[in-house]
Order: sequence, then structure tokens, then C-alpha cells
Amino acid sequence: MGYDGEAVWQADLRMMRQAGVNLVTVGVFSWAALQPDEHTFTFDWLDRILNLLAANEIFVCLGTGTAAQPAWLSAAYPEVLPVDACGQRRRHGERMNYCPTNPTFRRFAHQLVRRLAARYRDHPALLLWHVSNEYGPLCYCDGCAARFRAWLQARYGSLDEINRRWVTPFWGHIFSAWEQIEPPSQLGDRSMQGLLLDYQRFMSEMNLEGFRQEAAILRELTPNVPVLTNFHGLVKHLDYFAWAPYQDLIAWDSYPKADESPAEVAFRFDLMRGLKGGQSWLLMEQTPSQTQWRAHNPLKRPGEMRLQSYQAIAHGADSVLFFQWRQSRGAAEMHHGAVIGHAGHAQTRVFQEVAGLGAELRSLGCCLLGARTPARVALVFSWPNWWAVEYRPGLSASLDYLDEVMRYYRALWHHQIAIDICAPDSTLDGYDLVIAPLWYMVSEQQGAAIERYVAAGGVFLTTYFSGIVAEDGRAWLGGYPGPLRRTLGIWVEELDPLLPGTSNRIVIDEGAPLAPGTYACDLWCEVVHLEGARALARFGADFYAGGPVITEHRFGQGRAYYVATRPEPALLHRLLGWLLAERGITAPLAAPEGVEVARRCTATQEFVFVLNHHREAQTIGLPEPMSDLLTGQTYAQQLSLAGRGVAILVRSQSAGDA
Ligand SMILES: [Zn+2]
Repeated sequence: MGYDGEAVWQADLRMMRQAGVNLVTVGVFSWAALQPDEHTFTFDWLDRILNLLAANEIFVCLGTGTAAQPAWLSAAYPEVLPVDACGQRRRHGERMNYCPTNPTFRRFAHQLVRRLAARYRDHPALLLWHVSNEYGPLCYCDGCAARFRAWLQARYGSLDEINRRWVTPFWGHIFSAWEQIEPPSQLGDRSMQGLLLDYQRFMSEMNLEGFRQEAAILRELTPNVPVLTNFHGLVKHLDYFAWAPYQDLIAWDSYPKADESPAEVAFRFDLMRGLKGGQSWLLMEQTPSQTQWRAHNPLKRPGEMRLQSYQAIAHGADSVLFFQWRQSRGAAEMHHGAVIGHAGHAQTRVFQEVAGLGAELRSLGCCLLGARTPARVALVFSWPNWWAVEYRPGLSASLDYLDEVMRYYRALWHHQIAIDICAPDSTLDGYDLVIAPLWYMVSEQQGAAIERYVAAGGVFLTTYFSGIVAEDGRAWLGGYPGPLRRTLGIWVEELDPLLPGTSNRIVIDEGAPLAPGTYACDLWCEVVHLEGARALARFGADFYAGGPVITEHRFGQGRAYYVATRPEPALLHRLLGWLLAERGITAPLAAPEGVEVARRCTATQEFVFVLNHHREAQTIGLPEPMSDLLTGQTYAQQLSLAGRGVAILVRSQSAGDA
């Protein structure tokens, strides 16, 4: 943005060809440029760009442009602007700055989408539709309040039912008319767990409804063009599992922090693969060099962008795209990394690295496309559970759902095994091991499914503060962990969130399958009674010293484990290592710490990605001769990888024949 003249486009096209670019995203924020006023549309510039791209054999992921409405629209129809949690109507600007339920916003958005689809439906460059961008407006306006009441009416049927589900008699909050229900803004009622939970569900659904309506227009006019939006961050108020069925492909914008562990990045990649049950996904955005919107935005070092791109592919990505192609001359992201910087030419490190990757990906051809990652371990992740567990006031302000999930993911990731991230309602039957950290909100059906899974031979592990509430946020009666109690063979009598800086100890029981020892634990402890389970470890301190902290229950053909605290990472590593070994789940290769191993398979080939996250070279022993898809070289016994180096190993022909 900020460049004049077609000469710049021509230069861009030359350099895109040079870099091996075959797909570009166009028009994401182009609403104001396509519709300069309420009655005028100007598609000629977009026609020209799409024609030039087609002539250069570059496909287009075409944005619907609806992530930021034009200033004239906000000025003429101020009701499209959202009302924030403090009750103030926002002024025009930014992006995602609209009310997600507003009918006027939607009417204009649909008009634009229909015109775009009608105009470009047969354009040879059109490959994908990119609806809006990085969704997520929240709103507390009167329009949203009215829509929320209708949504509640459809969900619960009557006010009596809402009063019952939300336990409104507490503090005397009984509703006697629908109009009395207000969104839980900072000015409103934030003391009612059921109200907050349902407003989060509602906001996720209203954003999704906006997506679905635009997608429906596109699917009507271009039934053969896949439709998607791009997910980003882990947006707490958007339930990606609920969105996934409406995406033809999952698309992810990956912006790891400069010092972030590769395990954190891998978790988000695995989540993207999990959203559609293992289907490969698109890496829709990443910066080629640096971000601009963090407090500090260091460069990606030489080789880092390539390594991160292959890490995405290793975890199921079928594409590598960037934000942005040419660095904007000004405004919000003018310093954000770009393939072409302000210098305007290709003689840069960043361009050379992007072009190098482009050439490599071209040489790989199509062999990896659609390859799956067979996983025997499922990690349960749930947005509604996230909302519920972090409801405040709660028992501990330090409870952090993502952090707890990451502790278990990290421990598994260090064992170099494939992990599927699953919604609690997904079918878990095929997995050898199901891990559900901090599973606070468990429905009757989910509890029953876990019971069947374990009875049939599965191994299940969950942690403290699980099985506490049902889907509506009301506590399970009759003893925690509610619908998981029979499967786990325990009763949790008391919950003891610890003060910051305090801790307890975990003492492994004699005769337990874990090596004897004492480990630290903090954050949370519980008073646990055994009801058929046995203790593998006990608390070492406080009035519940000697009480069970890690339990094992043999149930039917399977086993269920409970961890009644937050153990130090070393113990989690050992506990999960033991469970994996028990089930015979092993890494495809034994690699040193900091070298990641991940696998993708097609019907005929197996690819083992080896990713060296160290700056220094590393040596990896091989169980058999294997060849590297990237270099064509075959390695007999060991592979030496340069710092930030990558190999994609396939079984060598001779080994395969043997
Ligand atoms: Zn609103």
C-alpha cells in the first residue's frame, strides 16, 4: 500500500515469479477501495491485478474485504460501530471495528460479497475465497442485547429455565421479563457465571454467523471455490472447533514470539490439524522477517523462517504464505516484515531466503500434499471449558487453562510423538491415550463417552479441578469429579488453591510403576478419597499429607489416571513417558533435545521431518538408512543437521525393499 503506478505491480510480478510464488492473497482490506461511496463500485483496479496475476500463472486467494468497513459507512450508519465493554460506542477506525450482529453492516457486506463473486466467479486466477480477516469483534450494544435475548429464548425456551440454569435466585437476580437480561459488560452484571458463559457462546456464534452468511453467498455463486477465513492467535472468544465445520480448509496465521519454545508453536499447528480431524491445513500468513505489533520485534535470524515453515509443514500444513509481499509505505504495519522491503528490490537476505524456500518447495512437488499424521495420543482442548475455568471470581486468579494444557502438551512433545488436539465431543475411541488437563466443564454425555472409552481398553488421564460443572456452568452434585467419578474411581472432597509462592510435595508410593522420588507441586492441591483407584503418589505436606495425589484406576479393560495438583515438569515428563512406553508409543527417531521429529504419511510413503531448533549443528542416529527428500542424499547410520537445519527423511528404496 502507498505505491502508485502499474510499474510497481509489474516489478512485483517479476519478483513473484523469481521467488516461486504461485498463490497470493488479494483484497483483504479493499472495501473502501472497491466501494468509494454507498452507490459506487470500482472494480477496474482489481480486474487489472487479477488479470496480471492470471497472465503470470499466479493464483489468487480473494478477500471479501469485509474486515474493515469504509469510513463513509460508519459515518452514515453509526449503529454499525460496536459498543465496548465500558458501554462506549467506538469511533470509526482500526479493523474488526463493527458490531457482529448489526443488520446494516451485514447488508452492505453481503452486497459487496455478491458483487465480487458475480464479477470474478469465472476468473482463471480465482482459487480460494478469504472471508473477512482474523475475526473477532465483541460488542455490548442494544442490538446485540436484543439478539442475545432471542438467542437465549431459542436455547432455553423460557425465562424459568434461564433462572434455573443460571441459578439467578443467588443474590436475588431472578428475571421476570426478557428485557431485564443485559449483556455482561463492565457496566452490567459480571457476577453470574451462566450469563457470562452464554454471552461468550453467543459472541462466538454471532461472529460465525457473519462468516456463514458471506460464505453462503460465495458458495451459491461459486460452488467449486473453497471458502475459508484465517484463524490467528488463540482467540479466547472464538470457538474454532465450532467454526471448523464451516471452513472448506483451515487457514492459520502463524506469528510465534521471538523467544517462544517450538513446542508452543507446534501445539497451535496440531490444533489446526485437529480442527478438521487431521485434514491438512494452509499456513496462510507468517512474517518473512519480523512483526511490528509487539513491544519488541526482533528479526528472524537466517534460516529461522525456513525452519518455521517446515515446522508448519511437518505438522500438517500444505502451503507456505507470507504477510506481507511489499512493505507498506505507511500506516499500521509499515515496519512489519515483507518479502520486498522499502528498498524495493530482490537483493536482500529476506528475499533470497523466501526465494530459496520457494525453489525448494517447487522441487518437492506434490508428494506431501494431503499427507496425514497418524497419532495415538489425543489431547483434549475446549473453548467452552476455557471460558468456564477462567470465570472470575473463581478459586484462584492463577488458574490458566492454556498454560495447563501446554504443560501436558510440552511433556508429550518432548517425547517426540504425534499428538492430536481434539474437542471433548470428538470420537476418541481410536486413541491409545487420551489426556484432558483441567477439564472443569464435563457434560453427562462426555463423561459417559470417557467411561465407555476406558472400559473398552483406553487409557485416560485428567487433572485437578476436573468434572466440576456441567455445560451450563452449574456444579455437579453428589461429589467431584462428577461424571468422571466412576471412571477415575475417586472422590474429591476439597479443593485447595495455594497462595502464590507456596508449594507442596509429591512422594511416589513404594511399588508404584514410577521411579521412587519426591517432586514439587504448586498452584492447587485436593483432598482425594480412593473409591477403587490406587494411589501412585501422595502429598508430602500439609493436613492432607499422605493423601492420594496421583491415582490409577483399572476400569473395565482400561485405566484412568488423576493428577490432583500441578506437578513440576520433570514429573510430568516421567509420568507421560511411562504411560507412552506402557502403550508402546515411541518416537519415529531418537533425536537430541531441541531437535524436533514429526511424521506425515501418505498411502505409499512415510516422511519423517527432522527440525533442528538449535543454532548449532546436531547429529541424529538413524535406525536404518534413510534418504533426505530435500537434498536427495542417503544417510546410512546418522544424519548431521546444521543449526536451524531441516531434513525430510523417507525410507530409502533399499531399506524399503529389505
Ligand atoms: Zn452490537
